[in-house]
Amino acid sequence: MKNTIDILNDKIRFVVRNDSQNLALVGPVKLPIKQGDFEATFNWYSWLAVDSQKTKQQMIDDLPAMNLAFGQQSSVLVYGDFENRDDALIRMHSICHTGDIFGSQRCDCGYQLHESMKMIVEHGCGAIFYLADHEGRGIGLFSKSLAYLLQEDYYDTVQANHALGFEDDVRSYEDALKILESLRSKPVTLITNNPKKLAALQAHGLAANGHVPIWGGLTDTNARYLQTKVEKSGHLGDVKKLLV
Ligand SMILES: [Zn+2]
Repeated sequence: MKNTIDILNDKIRFVVRNDSQNLALVGPVKLPIKQGDFEATFNWYSWLAVDSQKTKQQMIDDLPAMNLAFGQQSSVLVYGDFENRDDALIRMHSICHTGDIFGSQRCDCGYQLHESMKMIVEHGCGAIFYLADHEGRGIGLFSKSLAYLLQEDYYDTVQANHALGFEDDVRSYEDALKILESLRSKPVTLITNNPKKLAALQAHGLAANGHVPIWGGLTDTNARYLQTKVEKSGHLGDVKKLLV
């Protein structure tokens, strides 16, 4: 039997983060996915910040003592010839335990996650970054449950986070952008409805051509909002289809 490190060596690479830490990027791991009628095989990578002095073997030796299940590790699903193809779709998806896993209709995160996976496969090339330290705009799952209760008492998301002592939005994209750079040097197209997110990511170094929208799943809470958009704007044909 081969040594562990001989098997893993060429599937681990260190991406420079700063002087004291690297991001250990592991992959690709073949990940065949089936969600209802949707089936595709992605290449999956995960990453972890490690002391820049450590070798791969030392990093592996340290894992049992690191209790990683008590923290969060981010990862990325890659589809197609991501390194070389001229156009690739990117989604920077902030983890949403309630929306992505439970299918909560308080937000449209679950819909956006699954829809962006389909968009990327239809397009033929792209990546979904699943940012595991972004729960509740960075406040964490437990705090999010408190924020939801405040929202039931007419606080909006920002007010609720402020009331709990948090800044508006404490999400960082720096590590994900470093990983993106290591996987692809050509520009990308960002899947988002929010041009401000595109601008913010460009300010952090994202080489993006532009963005494509992703319409949220229709729920009781957003139907009126989408209907208003359709009535007031002629170019939102996709939303019209959703509302039929
Ligand atoms: Zn959500």
